[in-house]
Amino acid sequence: MGKGLSSAHLFAALKNRHKRGMNDSVSFPGGNWPEMRTGWVWLCGAGPGDPGLMTLHGLNALRQADVIVYDALVGDRLLEWAPQAEHIYAGKRGGKPSSKQRDISLRLVELARAGKRVLRLKGGDPFVFGRGGEEAQTLVQHGIPIRIIPGITAGVGGLAYAGIPVTHRDVNQSVTFVTGHDASGNTPCGLDWAAIGRGSEVIVIYMGIKHIAQITEAIIAGGRHPDEPVAVVRYATHETQEVLETTLSRAAADVEASGMGAPAIICVGRAVSLRQALDWQAMAAGEAPRSLDPLDRGRPAEVS
Ligand code: SAH
Repeated sequence: MGKGLSSAHLFAALKNRHKRGMNDSVSFPGGNWPEMRTGWVWLCGAGPGDPGLMTLHGLNALRQADVIVYDALVGDRLLEWAPQAEHIYAGKRGGKPSSKQRDISLRLVELARAGKRVLRLKGGDPFVFGRGGEEAQTLVQHGIPIRIIPGITAGVGGLAYAGIPVTHRDVNQSVTFVTGHDASGNTPCGLDWAAIGRGSEVIVIYMGIKHIAQITEAIIAGGRHPDEPVAVVRYATHETQEVLETTLSRAAADVEASGMGAPAIICVGRAVSLRQALDWQAMAAGEAPRSLDPLDRGRPAEVS
């Protein structure tokens, strides 16, 4: 041991080594993991809630970031993977108004200019109804270099955790992802629900729970059968996930009776019936599938 290296020094050195280790992207197998550089912002999807649904690029970023700016729907457990980073909350909590989008975008610019490795962590996928596009544009307009890391969006992964496949050969050849809120917080009246209903057998609605009555009415008025199955999945993939199965005509009343609120994803269409066979979480808990042939095909799934 060199002169003057007290145990306090040694401890500090080890701590730094540990810190460097956390920052060391080459410690992952598979090679060539990108290194986060100072002054960059990586915009990353955290998935719908279960931390295991983050990508490996996301994990690589968590391990290197100096600062993480995260949203309301990002689970705290994910942040435990980044003890070296400063964690800045930029979402809505306890009824307080959400941090203004402009303030968040400019904060990212500021942090990058201060020479930080900035990880902007957003729920689901950053480019799906998440304003990631706007944030990325602001960064580019300010000359900040960016990297985008996609994530699993709630409308796909969240429904999968409820046992609902968003596409299935016997059900649909298209799926529409639609928001129940426009930029002003109202139901987007400009949406042509009749065309959406005609054009796609399965409709996945984000941010729709508040306006579920108007939305389901408009879909029925557009020609969809009032008895079509609907699922409302709240806190999908979280430990507190709740699923309500209903129909287009009953959805609003059932949601009200259940007291379910945001965040929830709504799925309309026969894909919802498949949950009777594919509710894998219930099966893992020992329940039998409710049906082995929920689409009434009368033949095994592998026979086309
Ligand atoms: N970028 C996100 C969506 C952000 S918009 C994504 O790709 O998933 C926020 C809306 O997404 C919520 O109001 C809700 O409709 C949906 N959402 C996000 N996470 C969810 C979750 N874990 N469970 C249910 N809905 C969720």
